[in-house]
Amino acid sequence: MPLPQPVAEELRRIVGRESVIDAPNDLRIFERDGSIEGAVPDAVVLASSTEHVSAVIKVAAKHRIPVVPRGAGTGLSGGAVTIRGGIALQVTRMRKILAIDPVAQTALVEPGVVNQELSLVAAQHGLFYAPDPSSQKACTIGGNAAENSGGPHCLYYGVTTNHVLGMEVVLADGSVHWVSGDAPDRVGLDLCGVLVGSEGTLCAITKIKVRLLRIPPSIATMLAAFPSIETASQAVSAVIGHGIVPAALEMMDSVTVGAVEAHYHAGYPTDAGAVLLVEVDGIAESTRELMAAIGKILGENQGYAIREAQTPAERELLWAGRKGAIGALGRIKPNYYLHDGVVPRSRLPQVLSAVGEIGEHYQLPVANVFHAGDGNLHPNILFDLRDRQVLHQVEAAGEEMLRAVVELGGALSGEHGIGLEKSAFMPWIYNPDDLGAMHRVKDVFDADGILNPGKIFPDPSRKSVHLAGRTGLAVEAKWW
Ligand SMILES: Cc1cc2nc3c(=O)[nH]c(=O)nc-3n(C[C@H](O)[C@H](O)[C@H](O)COP(=O)(O)OP(=O)(O)OC[C@H]3O[C@@H](n4cnc5c(N)ncnc54)[C@H](O)[C@@H]3O)c2cc1C
Repeated sequence: MPLPQPVAEELRRIVGRESVIDAPNDLRIFERDGSIEGAVPDAVVLASSTEHVSAVIKVAAKHRIPVVPRGAGTGLSGGAVTIRGGIALQVTRMRKILAIDPVAQTALVEPGVVNQELSLVAAQHGLFYAPDPSSQKACTIGGNAAENSGGPHCLYYGVTTNHVLGMEVVLADGSVHWVSGDAPDRVGLDLCGVLVGSEGTLCAITKIKVRLLRIPPSIATMLAAFPSIETASQAVSAVIGHGIVPAALEMMDSVTVGAVEAHYHAGYPTDAGAVLLVEVDGIAESTRELMAAIGKILGENQGYAIREAQTPAERELLWAGRKGAIGALGRIKPNYYLHDGVVPRSRLPQVLSAVGEIGEHYQLPVANVFHAGDGNLHPNILFDLRDRQVLHQVEAAGEEMLRAVVELGGALSGEHGIGLEKSAFMPWIYNPDDLGAMHRVKDVFDADGILNPGKIFPDPSRKSVHLAGRTGLAVEAKWW
């Protein structure tokens, strides 16, 4: 539904005529993120400054129009989808790295700065930004902060919230605030901690101060093949059980390895049931020692074809395969539905075998590629959206996989957020009191529900149709 003409005019006066998009065909570009559900916004506003964001939100608040902050649209839980219509507030024009302080090892950036770009610029000072989602060539620091994103190297370095020192945010009434700052210990109530990971439901982020780290002098990367995903999972537990926390510990199953190898020719063994990519960093002596110890543990746990990258180019190729894995799966089917449940690491073999069974039951190919070190699984259900019949099956399979995760003591998301896709499942892990407490926080920041409505909290009008499932999960769904 188009915005009322006077509202559209008000928005044009703020950001300029060309920066409000409301032609139906153009709006379709902003219909989706990286997940499967879409909804066309009533208008897209391209903001270039904090003043724009603040003024647009003031107009939206006055007219009670939903506003959904939007970065690169790579989110995997429907977070940037305008499910209740309204304004998609695109912040990718705010893409300046405002300052890098090499002594304090911090950067001040606008929200539209692309993740990888920050590390490339920081490298000129011998520094890098540690959280590295596999989408880092496209996703924004603002989106990362809103989702509290992780990435392969977050096993060792911690996820986004561990690297955000402070933020400038615009609240639902359009007021602008700084939360936290330079001090490592956040004084007073930790509002920054509340707002990182709030998925656009509590504020629009307009500036972010992040911690940078010194590029380690030595980085070593190892690849190992395993007969099965279970043996590879066992090896992951064994490495961590020996007290070694690598910088990254990533797993790919045989379906993924086949697709990646065909595309990248990264030298992944295609006869393997699963492949592990392990990286350690630090001073040269310690990386050498760690690699030797890890290689031995992997070998003792049925690892074979174990090899260490010999050159930076070889290392980059190994990572290109892993980071491009989801794209490479397009060789098998054009669409994917990706979940990111997280389980205690020791439960990985059980949950992955449940995932395999569910895929077989629904006769859907499933590719697993994930941050095994922290128990964060990413089953990709592969399908062709042109076959409209299959979508229901895909959603049902995805839901069953998440139920298996919860049944095994896990949580609904390790890093992609709850967004739209998983909001209906929140009562599996939170009771009405817990959800009530979260809702009261939402009310404090946004009592009128202007910011990204329809996300995180279960919406009774969007009940899951598959709740009975096959797994017979003991958890009863309660609609709050
Ligand atoms: C191939 C692929 C690989 C991926 N790998 C990873 C991975 O390894 N780890 C990981 O954690 N994620 C991963 N993701 C998911 C996604 O890239 C991250 O969630 C990312 O942080 C989203 O950033 P974005 O700029 O695309 O945000 P968007 O998709 O545009 O938005 C995501 C959410 O953030 C909110 N938002 C965006 N900008 C702002 C802002 N300025 N202020 C307030 N709210 C805002 C939106 O409202 C929405 O709820 C992957 C995605 C893809 C497609």
